[in-house]
Amino acid sequence: MKNKLSFATRKHDLETMAEHPLDLLVIGGGITGAGIALDAQTRGLQTGLIEMRDFASGTSSRSTKLVHGGLRYLKQLAFHEVAEVGTERAIVYENAPHVTTPLKMMLPFYQGGTLGKFTTAAALDVYDRLAHVKKSERKFMLDKQASLQREPYLKAAGLKGTGVYVEYRTDDARLVMEVVKRAHQEGTLLANYVKAIDLIYNSKGQVAGAKVRDQISGEEITIYAKRVVNAAGPWVDTIREMDGSNKGKHLHLTKGVHLVVDNSKFPVKNAIFFDTPFNDKRMMFVIPREGKTYFGTTDTTWTKDPAEPTVTPKDVHYILEAVNKMFDIEPLHFADVESAWSGVRPLIQEEGKDPSEISRKDEIFHSESGLYSIAGGKLTGYRKMAEKIVNQVAKDIAQTYGDYHYVETQTLHLPLSGADQSGSQGFKEFFEPAVERGVAAGLDHEAAEKLVHRYGRNVEQLYNFLAEYPTDSRLEPVDYAQLYYGLEYEMVVHPIDYLLRRSSQLLFNFSHVMEVKDQIIAEMADYFDWDEKTENQMVHELQQQIELRQAFKEKVI
Ligand SMILES: Cc1cc2nc3c(=O)[nH]c(=O)nc-3n(C[C@H](O)[C@H](O)[C@H](O)COP(=O)(O)OP(=O)(O)OC[C@H]3O[C@@H](n4cnc5c(N)ncnc54)[C@H](O)[C@@H]3O)c2cc1C
Repeated sequence: MKNKLSFATRKHDLETMAEHPLDLLVIGGGITGAGIALDAQTRGLQTGLIEMRDFASGTSSRSTKLVHGGLRYLKQLAFHEVAEVGTERAIVYENAPHVTTPLKMMLPFYQGGTLGKFTTAAALDVYDRLAHVKKSERKFMLDKQASLQREPYLKAAGLKGTGVYVEYRTDDARLVMEVVKRAHQEGTLLANYVKAIDLIYNSKGQVAGAKVRDQISGEEITIYAKRVVNAAGPWVDTIREMDGSNKGKHLHLTKGVHLVVDNSKFPVKNAIFFDTPFNDKRMMFVIPREGKTYFGTTDTTWTKDPAEPTVTPKDVHYILEAVNKMFDIEPLHFADVESAWSGVRPLIQEEGKDPSEISRKDEIFHSESGLYSIAGGKLTGYRKMAEKIVNQVAKDIAQTYGDYHYVETQTLHLPLSGADQSGSQGFKEFFEPAVERGVAAGLDHEAAEKLVHRYGRNVEQLYNFLAEYPTDSRLEPVDYAQLYYGLEYEMVVHPIDYLLRRSSQLLFNFSHVMEVKDQIIAEMADYFDWDEKTENQMVHELQQQIELRQAFKEKVI
């Protein structure tokens, strides 16, 4: 039962939360909330987590998908943040090596640019040292010729050289899922599609839980908890509003858009971090992945609903112009964009600063009513953020209630789901034999490699589904195994949960989604026994998500 995370466990966990008061209720199932739930649960606090849509459906599936220290924040002299987040990179990697891959990032510098050879070398040295990067992985510098040899598509005119340093590529939504699953294994009660609609208070005016709505059944329940943490990302202030404590510092949301094209159209082999050619002090990433290249981002203030920030023709034009100017490639056009995504950064407002200059630092707010809120920060620093806030919450509970003794964080060497204690070295040894088992189970080599990377040691459960694959299935084996693993072990409830967040196919294999979407919906309709109305709603939701990634093409500016 503990391993499974499904619609059935969701029902069970919701009922348990309604019947038994929790030590801690976490609102929000992005990386911040998931990390807090795991940290608190492993310190012996009975924790429950609710997410109003799907896990990672907010900002945590819409990032640049890097576990990185934030090199550019060195420009803001944010040494402490860079050191803290930079150090976390290797920890995240060792605890989840299947979903985090080291990546050599190229940082080109040009004639007349803000950085030259010595400043780039010095900045990368500082970065390596602050982040305690192993000697063997520290930065190295390349001259112009060696840079072009390594990456022939860099713009040659004016190029002086590049610095090469280590970052990590991840799949943000899957990282959240691996944290969520580990938290569940440890005993956290979990439910997606459950929204906090109000906070409840005891007779002393202290927060004592939340009234929540099951977004699927429409039922409302009350969950009691000794403490409540608001980890609602871009909605943190909405929850503070409910608490009457949205005073002083508040959130400033900025939108970031990424585009995906086929790697044959933008055939870089390396990840690259470059200055935009617009004198706007901004930088962009270009990252090859799974036969595609993705790149971005924009950084503009967003004041509308954070749920589905748009991808506008202006955003697309800005990003395409930047890469067309900075790379020696056949110019990319709107029609080349296969997919796109847009997310909002929940930053903490600092008066008089441009979006790009606002610090990415995290902050904790503790209201008079006892509500804890946490905002800002980065995906990369989630474990440390969780540790900091749970230190406060656990001390608070230990001081107030006699039945709990304070325990320090347990997550430093805690493998996430799909990993084990053997870390990156153990994963390297696991990899090839696991791929071979996948091939023996009927997958082609490339598909097996993808699955082992995506699911780590949990891939064995997918192979179990392959072994049961019905010959008359409407799905291909690889989709069958992933969908059923998602339904039984990753609480897939809507088709979009599977197609977008569990398997990233809507981002990196858009044409495949168009081929299989009807079959996926039909399979899920059978599995859940949906009525016609529900099935139509699911079709509509998926269609909206498809259009969001394509609509800008119709309005060329
Ligand atoms: C364009 C962009 C690029 C980025 N790139 C990187 C990167 O490469 N590396 C990196 O480390 N960081 C990056 N970041 C930052 C990182 O993505 C965020 O800091 C992080 O994902 C925030 O996570 P969160 O859990 O706080 O918020 P979210 O992921 O938004 O989670 C909050 C959740 O709370 C839920 N919620 C809200 N209200 C309620 C309610 N009433 N009841 C129940 N649930 C509720 C929401 O549905 C949401 O899922 C990037 C951010 C952006 C926007």
